[in-house]
Amino acid sequence: MDEIIYINNLRTHFKTDFGLVKAVDDISYHAKKGEILAIVGESGSGKSVNVKTIMGLIKTPPGIIKGEILFDGKDLNKLSPDEFDKIRGNKIGMIFQEPMSSFDALERVGDQIDESLAIHSDLNAEDRKKAIIDMMNKMGIPEAEARYYEYPHQMSGGMLQRLMITLVLVNKPSLIIADEPTTALDVTVQAQVLNVMKDLQKETGTTIIFITHDLGVVAEIADRVHVMYGGKIVEKQSVKKLFAKPKHPYTKGLINSKIRKSLKGKSLENIKGAVPPAFDFPKGCRFNPRCPDAMDICREKSPEEIINSDGSAVACWLYEENK
Ligand code: SF4
Repeated sequence: MDEIIYINNLRTHFKTDFGLVKAVDDISYHAKKGEILAIVGESGSGKSVNVKTIMGLIKTPPGIIKGEILFDGKDLNKLSPDEFDKIRGNKIGMIFQEPMSSFDALERVGDQIDESLAIHSDLNAEDRKKAIIDMMNKMGIPEAEARYYEYPHQMSGGMLQRLMITLVLVNKPSLIIADEPTTALDVTVQAQVLNVMKDLQKETGTTIIFITHDLGVVAEIADRVHVMYGGKIVEKQSVKKLFAKPKHPYTKGLINSKIRKSLKGKSLENIKGAVPPAFDFPKGCRFNPRCPDAMDICREKSPEEIINSDGSAVACWLYEENK
């Protein structure tokens, strides 16, 4: 499997009155063609800023962006706005948490989706409408043809979310970045939308980078998982191994705080404390004030990423032989 995107030593910092906010702080990873890569972490871990940086949605200033984002061999950080616009929405599609921001309140939703498809495909008007209504049906949107002619204010939040996912999927981009796309949906609709995304990924070989705080969704959809904490990636693992044998204490904490069958009769564990603000990370490992395994060295030096032969990785002093 080839790689479609490489992120090399990416930093997204912001100058603020509180000091330098290191929202994303020197992360490197890649996504392979045709895989679903989940990026998971609590709010404030840097996962959304990471993907907004990839999509060119961070204003500079106040943002300060360093590092490389190589997509199809081109560094997205070095493209002009016009060059970037040709890639965004066409080769890379993004599904946001907030659907209202994607639709113009004054235009029918079907026309808005059609506008985007007309730019990105050679289909004629009739075939575009058929493709859009077909995708709306797959998304479980009732009375899709009638909905096509409605305005955003006539839709519930969950319905608009499904229409935004329709807008992205119908364009069949080679990379989809989905930022908490199903958080606002109820559980049954969420399952339906995840299934459509998985089917599309199989059918077209598209790559999906899926941002979520929900490990249940990760287990459902992902091939590989990257766990983020304090602006850094602390563990990279296949989804199977992550749940069977998590390595990083933060990953273990996330899994132990998830509701699961084996908990019957026991109380749920949680990770003590809270994610520190990104302008005031502790010295050493950023997780050390919350870590049950913290050692002296953890409070002094930040651990380097240890990469294994299978591509999995962990950044934790527990696994460093020369500490
Ligand atoms: Fe815990 Fe130390 Fe590992 Fe950080 S480096 S996660 S503090 S054991």
